[in-house]
Amino acid sequence: MLLGCIGDDFTGSSDLANTLAKQGMRTVQYTGVPNMAAKGDVEVGVVALKSRSIDVAQAIRQSLDALNWLKAQGCKQFFFKYCSTFDSTKVGNIGPVAEALADALDAGIVVFCPAFPGAGRTIYQGHLFVNDQLFNESGMDSHPLTPMTDSDIARWLQHQSSSSVGKVTSTDVLAGVDAVDSALAREQSMGNRFVVVDAIRDEDLMTIGRAVEKLPLITGGSGVAMGLPENFRKRNLISQTKVPWTGQSGRCVILSGSCSIATRAQVDLYSQAHPSLEVSPGNIMNKITTAWDVAKWVLDQTGIPLVYTSTDPESVKQVQKEFGKESSASAVETLFAETAKLLVDGGVSSLVVAGGETSGAIVEGLGITTMEVGPEIDPGVPAMRARDDLVIALKSGNFGTEDFFAKAVKVLSTDLIDPPS
Ligand code: ADP
Repeated sequence: MLLGCIGDDFTGSSDLANTLAKQGMRTVQYTGVPNMAAKGDVEVGVVALKSRSIDVAQAIRQSLDALNWLKAQGCKQFFFKYCSTFDSTKVGNIGPVAEALADALDAGIVVFCPAFPGAGRTIYQGHLFVNDQLFNESGMDSHPLTPMTDSDIARWLQHQSSSSVGKVTSTDVLAGVDAVDSALAREQSMGNRFVVVDAIRDEDLMTIGRAVEKLPLITGGSGVAMGLPENFRKRNLISQTKVPWTGQSGRCVILSGSCSIATRAQVDLYSQAHPSLEVSPGNIMNKITTAWDVAKWVLDQTGIPLVYTSTDPESVKQVQKEFGKESSASAVETLFAETAKLLVDGGVSSLVVAGGETSGAIVEGLGITTMEVGPEIDPGVPAMRARDDLVIALKSGNFGTEDFFAKAVKVLSTDLIDPPS
């Protein structure tokens, strides 16, 4: 294994895995830290944790376990993946986990670059944008679990870290690899161990990728990982064998627990023409709706049904006020996990999942341990084979075009009972 990656959620990890697979590296995503060695031909191992919103000490422990496993598989360079929207609160977990990994690897300088210009996430002067909006004005300020209120990544990261945080801005990045190298050295000499690096074009990610060739630890969104495979390719370390993809026959279902703006538009569009069930968190909490009810409804449908709890920020706030933020999130996630299990036991063989935490709960609930990365459905979202009889797509909240669900179904499933529009 050449590159070892640790992702703080499942959809983010599959986004990263997708980026690296597209660049020609044989990539496997693992659910949590595996308890056995990886297959010999895997070039990138992505250990997907569900550590974004858990207790910080636990997040650090899990991340260090992942690091040790990846080291044991032969990796020399490591990547800590978090969301391109940097959705972590002031007290965690991105800063503390990065610090622990940096200490373990004895890294003197660590790059932070949660940008992906191709997907509308740019960083300019250390501020993160989603398309033309500062990202704290893009809806992320009302995220159910990790509301983000400051677009200045360096300032935000400083709240979370004892390491001093600096910036390398576009002036250096646009000037090329040598300028980034010098700027990183300058920041290190100024005592800044963590450095937020600007990226306003996808080419910038390639520049940064080349500049970090010798660094043991890189952190960021999947975008900045785009530049890393080239470093291995030019040393002839990549095998170039492509794994063929075939869709899965059998029933397909869409499950959405994401309340992000993009997902809500996708739910609106898909539900206009397909069997759709909105599940109320209040009914879950009050045990009026159970996983059995939902699974029964799904299995009674013809076509490819959608089950969702996705709703607007006002309704989320009300639910959280009534039942508590963590309890309501956990009840919704548990319902999705139990429903997915019943559905797979009932013969469903393709699953499309929207929402990072939701995906984590479902993958864990199904006991999926490895996912071989297949073709891309939409930027950042690959189709993946979890087992001989199960394929899955895990979509991060803000990813995908409005017709994402229909596109995902077409890639995953070979049996379109209800041709998606
Ligand atoms: P995203 O990728 O869009 O951030 P996640 O699945 O990571 O989506 O996060 C959404 C969180 O909100 C999950 O914990 C989910 O259980 C919770 N949730 C989903 N629907 C509702 C709702 N209607 N009310 C309150 N919380 C919800």
